Amino acid sequence: MLNHLFLLNIAVMGALGVGYYWGHWLEVPFLGVALAACVLVSMLSAWHTFKLRQLTQKLWQEQGNLTLLEHEQGAMADLKQAILRLIRQKNQTIAAEQSQSEQLLMALNATPNGLLLLDADNRIQWMNAAASAHFGLHAQKDYAQVVSNLIRSPAFVDYLHTGQFDQPINVVIKPDVLLLSIRVCMYGQGRKLILSQDVTDRERTEVMRRDFVANVSHEIRTPLTVLSGFVETMQDMNLAREQQLHVLGMMASQSNRMLQLIADLLTLAKLEGDPLPTMTQWFSLWDTLNSIHQDAQALSGGKHGLTFPEESPAFKSLQMAGNATEMYSAILNLVSNAIRYTPAHGSIEVVWSMREDGSALLTVQDTGPGIAREHLSRLAQRFYRVDTSRSRDTGGTGLGLAIVKHAIERHGGELSIESEVGKGSQFRLLIPASRVRLADKSE
Ligand code: ADP
Repeated sequence: MLNHLFLLNIAVMGALGVGYYWGHWLEVPFLGVALAACVLVSMLSAWHTFKLRQLTQKLWQEQGNLTLLEHEQGAMADLKQAILRLIRQKNQTIAAEQSQSEQLLMALNATPNGLLLLDADNRIQWMNAAASAHFGLHAQKDYAQVVSNLIRSPAFVDYLHTGQFDQPINVVIKPDVLLLSIRVCMYGQGRKLILSQDVTDRERTEVMRRDFVANVSHEIRTPLTVLSGFVETMQDMNLAREQQLHVLGMMASQSNRMLQLIADLLTLAKLEGDPLPTMTQWFSLWDTLNSIHQDAQALSGGKHGLTFPEESPAFKSLQMAGNATEMYSAILNLVSNAIRYTPAHGSIEVVWSMREDGSALLTVQDTGPGIAREHLSRLAQRFYRVDTSRSRDTGGTGLGLAIVKHAIERHGGELSIESEVGKGSQFRLLIPASRVRLADKSE
């Protein structure tokens, strides 16, 4: 910089000197100096204009790839440096804004809710990944398409055209597979934001809840109706002692049925609400099966052939980790079903075996009527019965197998059923290896 000024000074002095000398020769020395100064100023101004043009041209051509070379100095270099600093700052701001909008886009794509932007003519402008999955749309291919040409559900098309968006609507996209709750929000000038949420599971749970309440009400109303009928009979009729006892017996059986239903409902509620059974509390399956054997004898009243596992050192040492009460209830339900559904003189057999992978299998087999294949997958649903009157006549609530399934699944195991009409049924409980051990009883 100093160098530059020094050279400029020398040039100015030199030019003025030459002007003075030339003026002196013409006998008007100051005119010579003034002329030299004018020529110098014009040259300097032409040179600056030329340099400025050069810089402007470079700026247009190189569009931000401008660099300051080492030898460049002077006012032009300062200007170039200032421009470079401005460009750098601008680039940094653009990069920060770009990264911010990328983060925003990533967040919008990560949400499980669908977002679809439409312009004032309902043409698609943008969508996130969830919206594309919900509606089966393609972000690039479907850009600028009119949305109602692609999402053709009449409920959706009507909703879009009514312009009343205070409440969301439910739209079935695929029956039983995808139900969406859709809401439209207006923004800008006539633009729309469509929000979609997958409510398939929520709706399924809601339907189950409604069915459950309806089923429970029905199950309770039936014995209550019978009971109140008997009460009226007792009030209105002058019954003999023997008839009274008969009616009272039937009333007792109806109230027992209600009590059993409530007991089963409470068991189910407990199974659904309680924390999962621990892996550290071990109980003896031998003791559990022994108690169930005694219950089974009482239930059958000697009408069936009952076979339980033989006493053996291995079986006596069989232990399971988890909740003894839940497993007791599960196995007893299977055994009592077998007794209830198997006609007199039929036989029921309980077998256990260890499998190669260390898991245990407990099987309850009967020679009862068997169950047709089409019912098997639904047997463990609450209140599902193959023969409703047979179930009620034998004191069933329709909740037994639901309890069994819940209890064994809470222990990481599974319930499987094999049956054939006329050939009896086999209900199997698979207990995972992690919850079974053969241990010394003294442990
Ligand atoms: P329930 O109280 O009606 O017995 P469950 O849930 O225990 O209810 O059983 C559901 C249905 O499965 C029963 O209604 C019955 O039709 C059928 N079922 C269960 N166990 C047997 C069995 N051992 N033999 C034949 N049918 C059975």
